[in-house]
Amino acid sequence: MIETDEPAERPARYPAEAPASQALFDRAAAIVPGGVNSPVRAFRAVGGTPRFMVRGEGPWLFDADGRRYADLVCSWGPLLLGHAHPEVVAAIQDAASRGTSFGTPTPGEVELAEELVARTAAEQIRLVNSGTEATMSAIRLARGYTGRSKIVKFAGCYHGHVDALLAAAGSGVATLALPDSPGVTGAGASETIVLPYNDLAAVEQAFAAHGADIAAIITEAAAGNMGVVAPLPGFNAGLAELAHRDGALLIMDEVMTGFRVSRSGWQGLEPVDADLWTFGKVMGGGLPAAAFGGRADVMSRLAPAGPVYQAGTLSGNPLACAAGLATLRLADDAVYARLDATAATISGLAVKALAEAGVPHRLATAGSMFSIFFTDAEVRDYDGARQQNVAAFKAFFHSMLAQGVYLPPSAYESWFVSAAIDDEALEHIAAALPGAARAAAQES
Ligand SMILES: *Cc1c(COP(=O)(O)O)cnc(C)c1O
Repeated sequence: MIETDEPAERPARYPAEAPASQALFDRAAAIVPGGVNSPVRAFRAVGGTPRFMVRGEGPWLFDADGRRYADLVCSWGPLLLGHAHPEVVAAIQDAASRGTSFGTPTPGEVELAEELVARTAAEQIRLVNSGTEATMSAIRLARGYTGRSKIVKFAGCYHGHVDALLAAAGSGVATLALPDSPGVTGAGASETIVLPYNDLAAVEQAFAAHGADIAAIITEAAAGNMGVVAPLPGFNAGLAELAHRDGALLIMDEVMTGFRVSRSGWQGLEPVDADLWTFGKVMGGGLPAAAFGGRADVMSRLAPAGPVYQAGTLSGNPLACAAGLATLRLADDAVYARLDATAATISGLAVKALAEAGVPHRLATAGSMFSIFFTDAEVRDYDGARQQNVAAFKAFFHSMLAQGVYLPPSAYESWFVSAAIDDEALEHIAAALPGAARAAAQES
């Protein structure tokens, strides 16, 4: 493996072959299914060699071949402040020097939970290790609280790889074109009602038919896992109303939007009367930390306060809490203003380049999260998202990659900016976009 300590000179184009990454991928593929530990990383949706990254610094990623990329994935959202922010690294080092895990309560957990409660409408918090655990646990709690079994979810919304939620689950699943997953039993999925996103009439019908059996509606606060699809005005509020009318709970999944689109997440832009929220990604500052929280009377049904069991050996891990706290404490209003401005600049440049190249496209935004659908039509749900020209995206993606810009390797993912994106990185991205748009035009 090549260690890259110095930024590589930016060439006109990197070659399509990435020998050091390919060698690592071959080693991995021999012993790890598909060569990766999370499917979208394998580049199957775009083809080519997944880049093995060896280092990150601010807005930049460096791969095993010594190439430098401006990063618009940010670890799929967590890295709000960019890579290896000195204060976040120092907080992790400081925590590590005092021990990595105790299996006891620690002060950092209290501080992180207090920070989440201060920023959101949640009254109580339980810390877990991944977004998947957060949604899985929130659903168990909703079922335990209501004594009901059915869950409503929306096609194209991804809530982690929870059995009951792996029906029409967007992104990784959409990328692999699996309608759902083998290994999820009929029983596991049969209690899940999948409805089109942004369609309140469908929700109303589902409650008319099954209202007495529905424990909860779970929805992404703003969808980001089929590409970005914001909720239409009134959609989230309508969900709260319909759920509550029939005694069900509303779970707002803010694992992606939480502490990214505002200091409180999506609820900072659109307050909704939800009962439970799930958080992850940014709140771990690049380490594995996630949470669910909400109404005290619901949360207090969790063990050991109540009968609904939920636990975790490493939950509230001191390193993860330190990274999350350091990140959130640095994420003030100025950081969010900067993220908004950076997202507007980059998305504006992308739209301009695609328009000039004559490529059909739609910019979709949800706060500072955005994605570009390679289609002329408005996208308001998963069926709409799937109308896009994936071949045009692939050409666009590979041109950006060859020019040193790392985009999500799928047409069904949000782009993520960090506050570390500076003028140099912006100019680097701006310089790559026209060529990528022309490459996409060849496929349009
Ligand atoms: C990423 C994500 C999850 C799953 O989180 P993991 O930490 O990957 O398990 C759940 N919900 C949403 C909305 C997400 O974006």
